[in-house]
Amino acid sequence: MMEIVPSAVPSGYAYFLQHTASPVEEKPQPYALPSYSMAVPVSFQEFIGNIHAVENLRAAVAVGRLPHSLILAGPRGSGKYTLALMLTLALQCERQPREMAEDGRELAAFCGECSNCTRILESADLETRIEEAVAAREELREVDKKETRILIQTHPDVLVIPPDPPQLLIKLGQVRTLITRSQRVPSEARAKVFLITSASFMKEAANSLLKVLEEPPSYAHILILAENLGELLPTIRSRCAVTRLGALPAEDIEQVLSAARRELSVKDRALVARLSEGAVGRALSLNLTEYQSARLDALTMLRNSQTSDHTALFKMTETYRAGAEGQVKTTALLRALAALLEDILLLQNGAPDRIRNIDIERELRSFAESVSFAWLESAVKGLDAVQSGLRRNLLRNVSLDAFAAELEVAR
Ligand SMILES: [Zn+2]
Repeated sequence: MMEIVPSAVPSGYAYFLQHTASPVEEKPQPYALPSYSMAVPVSFQEFIGNIHAVENLRAAVAVGRLPHSLILAGPRGSGKYTLALMLTLALQCERQPREMAEDGRELAAFCGECSNCTRILESADLETRIEEAVAAREELREVDKKETRILIQTHPDVLVIPPDPPQLLIKLGQVRTLITRSQRVPSEARAKVFLITSASFMKEAANSLLKVLEEPPSYAHILILAENLGELLPTIRSRCAVTRLGALPAEDIEQVLSAARRELSVKDRALVARLSEGAVGRALSLNLTEYQSARLDALTMLRNSQTSDHTALFKMTETYRAGAEGQVKTTALLRALAALLEDILLLQNGAPDRIRNIDIERELRSFAESVSFAWLESAVKGLDAVQSGLRRNLLRNVSLDAFAAELEVAR
């Protein structure tokens, strides 16, 4: 195994690529854009929601008892990465500031200014760091490219391990680096921190992580961020402490938005709060215009199922092309469609207060009144089929048309 710093990267810079001799593991995976909060964490006070979970973790850091293997579980956008980074800062800060909880416990904090803090904070904008690393990998020779894994390191004792594109899985080579690194004592901070930002592992990678989770060195902390705990091997879960981050109530998110996204009208804030499903990060970054345009196409599909005139549908599906851009667009359409179907189901079941697309409630109600439960069920099934077809890279517009036709027949 060999690590290389590509020449395109300024020396001493933020990340490195890892060259591994192991064969490339290939497995098609659903396409999903990773989403990380772009905000640089300023202090624990800025972290919204989940106060008790956060205080418990800070108190554990303060007394040197943060679990060595820890899973932070919570929905996309709930702040897992931000919190993990803040805990890392609290562990590694040279000044080790302390604050007092209301119950009198000491809580770890960080200064954000010392040499450890500032270097770790360079990993805050993870999306950009990953883009840079991927771009650098693109510059490599074809044969090296395949065997090069993405790792982000802005401090010698902190290693961020994101899912490796394009399959977006944690791969064996990445875990191998974690294992090698964990055998070396920290050089510039008190601990060695490994931050695995996804729970989607290649099987071999998960198995090899087990060994280190079993007996992590006393100076090492391994944090795993999980949207869905079920994705992790039970043997991994059982070796880790788990902290869950819950979703926030829509009203809390609206309040955050009223300060952070003043460009949105009150009505739009309420809509974004519902659409983000309790995840602050998602609420802050959700592009409402893009969502509404994907939703309009999803509505076209639903409306098409109720008419014999398919002009609007064909006009719409024609704009969906193959390639990466088409894939992003299709994924957005399918997500919007899934949200609409769920809302229609909620309306049928007399739970209108739980729907997300509150701005088009009237149209959704008329759908809810005109379609049967069996239709909804087959629509959801058909949606799954299109999504798995997408994973197999079928021509997008063909499968969208086929799905729309199915929706019509099923009525
Ligand atoms: Zn500091």
